Amino acid sequence: MLLTQAPSFLPVLPPVNSAHRLALAPIATPHRLLLGPGPSNAHPTVLEALARTPIGHLDPLYIELMGEVQELLRYAWQTDNRLTIPMSGTGSAAMEATLANTIEPGEKVLVAVKGYFGLRLADMAGRYRAEVVTIEKPWGEAFSLEELEQALLSHRPKILAIVHAETSTGICQPVEGIGDLCRKYDCLLLLDTVTSLGAVPIYLDEWKVDLAYSCSQKGLSCPPGLGPFSMGPRAEAKMLARQGKVPNWYLDVSLLNKYWGSDRVYHHTAPVNMNFGLREALRLLAEEGLEAAWARHRSNAERLWAGMERLGLELHAPQHLRLPTLTTVRIPAGVDGKAFTSHLLNSHGIEVGGGLGALAGKVWRIGLMGYNSQPENVDRLLNLFESELPAFRPGAALAGAAV
Ligand SMILES: *Cc1c(COP(=O)(O)O)cnc(C)c1O
Repeated sequence: MLLTQAPSFLPVLPPVNSAHRLALAPIATPHRLLLGPGPSNAHPTVLEALARTPIGHLDPLYIELMGEVQELLRYAWQTDNRLTIPMSGTGSAAMEATLANTIEPGEKVLVAVKGYFGLRLADMAGRYRAEVVTIEKPWGEAFSLEELEQALLSHRPKILAIVHAETSTGICQPVEGIGDLCRKYDCLLLLDTVTSLGAVPIYLDEWKVDLAYSCSQKGLSCPPGLGPFSMGPRAEAKMLARQGKVPNWYLDVSLLNKYWGSDRVYHHTAPVNMNFGLREALRLLAEEGLEAAWARHRSNAERLWAGMERLGLELHAPQHLRLPTLTTVRIPAGVDGKAFTSHLLNSHGIEVGGGLGALAGKVWRIGLMGYNSQPENVDRLLNLFESELPAFRPGAALAGAAV
């Protein structure tokens, strides 16, 4: 028998361009203590959950896990809302979902802006072709019920959107009473709870909030990647009565609910590992209990506030409106705030945020969220402010040179 070489069916390929072919070592990130506006450090057992082998997104075990995540989100938010799901995406995706599903073109949306994230809500609402009306307060204040009622009365919007915990200013907007006003003026209440869920008291149903969203990486001790979303019956009715389709396929709650509801119909592949992580984060929250988690955030924030004031630093937010998860500290005159935060990061592995928008260059933003809200972290940061900040004060270099 004659042995011939088997014919090759391999196509002849053009040469590969290796210009972008990096030769990298496996990833090795340093340990950082994330005390900025987010993300916050994840709880170690959440990281373990993320590292588990994925299971199918239609696996009965996964379907069971989905129900657990939904139920625990309802607990965290204090709501019975059926349509409570984690959006695949960060907090901004869930923010967009609240607007995309409920706005119909030309409808009036009132956004109460008192910081950066209010501006983002107004921008997004406009992209869904709402007629956006804004009322504004200086960055560092909250709205009163009278101001909100006045605006509802004069603009008659279909939706009032407001941020509960404004991460750009460190202000906690009092919410009680706003839901009643919205019902009185036949409007939906949309609340951003990105920096409050799991850390600051929220009673979605008692406050008559119709739409809410959050994120995984701030108060919930999980990495970024999921955006919890909740829609109450009034908002659902508005969604069901819409004339046209929801103008965003990915975030369409009526489609998503075919997967998260009882049908379990494929919509998009759920980020299963992120949901493992969120389940663990919410399990930890339920184990601790909301009251205990809220009290822990409060007491560690108070420890930080007292410590900063002891060091002669000024807090930007008035005491009665201060947000336990995010503290804005005024940068003292003559100090290069960015140089100090770079020093904290590079020499001590601690991240602290700078100001945004109207507060750029004026404040540092210190986050104590979820797993990071611990007295040891507060003390470590205060000690560094005490020992290292003097070198950044005006005249410090001269004084040093004179020695
Ligand atoms: C962080 C934040 C967001 C956006 O969330 P992402 O997860 O960054 O998309 C929205 N609103 C507020 C108040 C925030 O702090």
